[in-house]
Amino acid sequence: MALIVQKYGGSSVGNLDRIHHVAEKVIKAKQEGHHVVVVVSAMYGETDRLIRLASALTQHYEPREYDVLIASGEQVSMALLSMALNAKNCPARSFTGPQVGIYTDNIHTKARILKVKTEVIQRELEKDRIVVVAGFQGVNEHGDITTLGRGGSDTTAVAIAAALKADECQIYTDVDGVYTTDPHFLPAARLIPRISFEEMLELASLGAKVLQMRSVELASKHNMPIRVLSTFSDGPGTLVTFEDKTMQKRLVSGIAFSREEAIISLSGVPRKLGMEGHILGRVSEANIEIDMIAQNASTRDDTSDFTFTVNRREYQRAMSVIEELVTELDTMINIKTNSKVAKLSLVGIGMRSHAGVATTMFKALGREGINIQMITTSEIKISVVVDEEHLEKGVQAIHQAFELDKAESDKNPPFFE
Ligand code: ADP
Ligand code: ASP
Ligand code: MG
Repeated sequence: MALIVQKYGGSSVGNLDRIHHVAEKVIKAKQEGHHVVVVVSAMYGETDRLIRLASALTQHYEPREYDVLIASGEQVSMALLSMALNAKNCPARSFTGPQVGIYTDNIHTKARILKVKTEVIQRELEKDRIVVVAGFQGVNEHGDITTLGRGGSDTTAVAIAAALKADECQIYTDVDGVYTTDPHFLPAARLIPRISFEEMLELASLGAKVLQMRSVELASKHNMPIRVLSTFSDGPGTLVTFEDKTMQKRLVSGIAFSREEAIISLSGVPRKLGMEGHILGRVSEANIEIDMIAQNASTRDDTSDFTFTVNRREYQRAMSVIEELVTELDTMINIKTNSKVAKLSLVGIGMRSHAGVATTMFKALGREGINIQMITTSEIKISVVVDEEHLEKGVQAIHQAFELDKAESDKNPPFFE
């Protein structure tokens, strides 16, 4: 008898028919002789609706109340699934995150899980019941409800699987697994049968929302492989696990992208010791996260050009901070911005041992006439910023250049131009 944790996302529990379908899948696993713990998200669109309600009411809500509100979507789906299971003569009980004992820190709206108690779940499993847990939420040291950041039900599932030392952690969603890029964006994308924690972590942090980044972090920390599967069709899905030889043979694994970027460029910044820290310090004091940074010294005078990117949602605020700072500095700094840029990233552990990946990527973009505005690299990824209108063409070009649409066996050996 195995212990399986299954997580069903928003579209998987999006209406009552789908909840019935999920109940059938859970019952099947139970009939195969397994103990099953199910983690559910809010019904599709519900969390967004709750957020809109809060924003329509006031722009100055308390984070505590905001979390109470947005955690409620999961409570609806856990109860409905539990009712559906019981109606099908499969004993089940639902619990919120706090009821189960998911303890988090105090950072409302993006809390981290600190501890998962297993007593309640174990007790229910011993009574041979299905345990249905609301994803995305926990409780802090004050007894207040917290939420885990968008997409956080994935993290709830992994945390519970790790705490219970489950045999499998299955994440059911609306696609067959992890693809070479978002299959809704590029139909030529291919399913990746196995991917390393490290690559998945990069893809998730660079915009592939199929798994929340923290769930992958946690899975890797606790040696808990994750299987990503479709709720609506059968198939082996994708196993997110430790690096192995087959993965190492691949040059690159996938492409992630994010449209939510904005670029701010300052030219003519006086070259003084500590100036970079001064500028960035002001931006981060305003709680604005900076992503990419580049600096070029001017060859003409004693100034430099300083460029950085922020999330588009924070662009207006970042601009106010920068304009204020430039006025204070009282020098001829020229500000150039573009709030319609996108970040496109290529990820693969094969990059560690193969040079030339960047050249192939940049040439592929060049052939399409796509101008690269900024570049950052790490050991297993290359990210570029391009105009948002070129995103689709760019993803397509890179996907093709690395033959990501082909099966491993049909690919040419790593080639570089
Ligand atoms: P759920 O509601 O089940 O948690 P999400 O919408 O959070 O589902 O995540 C699934 C979505 O992630 C897919 O519908 C797909 O559009 C998107 N996605 C982005 N990148 C990828 C990728 N590389 N592979 C698979 N899906 C991806
Ligand atoms: N309902 C939450 C969200 O929409 C959590 C989740 O779906 O994982 O972000
Ligand atoms: Mg999700």
